[in-house]
Amino acid sequence: MLDYHVHSSYSCDSQTTAEEYLIAAEAFGVEEVCFTDHIDRHFPLPGIHHVDTDFALREAHFSALSYPGKTRFKCGIEIGLFPKASVYTESKRIVERFGFDFVIASVHVVGEMDDPYSPEYFEKRSRREGYADYLKRVYDCIREYADFDAVGHIFCPARACPFEDRDFRLSDAPELIDAIFKLLISRGQTLEINTQDFWHAIDINNYVAAYKRFKELGGEFCTVGTDSHGMNRFGRLLGNGYELARAAGLKYIAGYEARKPVLHKL
Ligand SMILES: [Zn+2]
Ligand SMILES: [Zn+2]
Repeated sequence: MLDYHVHSSYSCDSQTTAEEYLIAAEAFGVEEVCFTDHIDRHFPLPGIHHVDTDFALREAHFSALSYPGKTRFKCGIEIGLFPKASVYTESKRIVERFGFDFVIASVHVVGEMDDPYSPEYFEKRSRREGYADYLKRVYDCIREYADFDAVGHIFCPARACPFEDRDFRLSDAPELIDAIFKLLISRGQTLEINTQDFWHAIDINNYVAAYKRFKELGGEFCTVGTDSHGMNRFGRLLGNGYELARAAGLKYIAGYEARKPVLHKL
């Protein structure tokens, strides 16, 4: 299996080194890890410093990293997007400068500073509005910013959704889902199956339906990632992510090498 969303100690919210993940990988059946540390050129939420990542230091560390086990590793990035021209320009500059294998584009902030990972996000939103506002922000950002390979965690409001009926439904935002998927497919890009988004799913078929829609519109492959910020998530649910892909009828899971997809048949 491949895990294409892992935060090493170069992310401000992870203490676990790349070496520690690689040592643990074999026990979880992970054959390839892509490290996707954060860079958010605009991050207004207090207490987190995603803007400060030192990618020059990270690149030097990763290119010197020799790991004797079988697990392969790739060097990626997770860009946090915000609808602001300087964010797009600076993100593109970083992507071009460091020659990553794989780039995730994610949204971590809705409105000016609403945190979609917090239950408070839903204080002024219904379940449907919570998902629709998030997806609208994703769509607005990826329409303007195209230099990425997969869009990250599009169902992340599910993680902190406080309602009993918490799962995303296609009927919550069918036009937005179609617009996002069509845009990705037209550019040869994809979305990830982020196992954190499904951790608390009431019925996983609600999410299978969304990936089925991606397939219906012409999508053939996704990436799968655990969004690990430490050992507690790493490897867990990765198999469930693969099952979800199979249930949706996808043909491949993608790894990446120098920004080109390497397809693994399901
Ligand atoms: Zn993220
Ligand atoms: Zn992440």
